[in-house]
Amino acid sequence: MRKLLIDMDGVISDYYGSFLEIWKKEYPDRIVIPASELKDFYMEKSYPEEYAEDIRRITTSVGFFRYMAPISGAVLALKSILADGKFDPVICTTPDTHVDGQLCWSEKAEWIEHYLGAEWLKRLIQTADKTMIRGDFLIDDKPVHWRRIVFDHSYNQDTSGYRLMNWFDWPRLRETL
Ligand SMILES: [Mg+2]
Repeated sequence: MRKLLIDMDGVISDYYGSFLEIWKKEYPDRIVIPASELKDFYMEKSYPEEYAEDIRRITTSVGFFRYMAPISGAVLALKSILADGKFDPVICTTPDTHVDGQLCWSEKAEWIEHYLGAEWLKRLIQTADKTMIRGDFLIDDKPVHWRRIVFDHSYNQDTSGYRLMNWFDWPRLRETL
């Protein structure tokens, strides 16, 4: 069976949306850039440099990776991909190694167990280098990664390859693979 690697942040977990929730609460007077206007994969580059440290503090805080909301449709789509049998789905994510005590690794595992169930823990690979992982396809939002399937965001419009517009688009794309 063909192996389908699936990225986590920005693909099944809403990294930027979760950041924005905290950002708006903590800094109600500061600018808010909608997800549709991000021009760079690294969202802090879309904000004034003076905010870089505050942004980093939020995204490296305890619980940030654990309490992200799922991307709309992702949980159902992943469960259907597993039940479907056409692909062997594996979540392939690069943890943020700057988070204190390497909490990011365990928080990502807790997130997967919570939203997808414990059986998906056997389908979770955390690696600093995704090119070391074998797979037939990789659904990712990072424009510069080797990838075959781009998860659509405003900042990856120039990236070529298959394109997954959102998780409700999966049935269409499934037919083309
Ligand atoms: Mg990502």
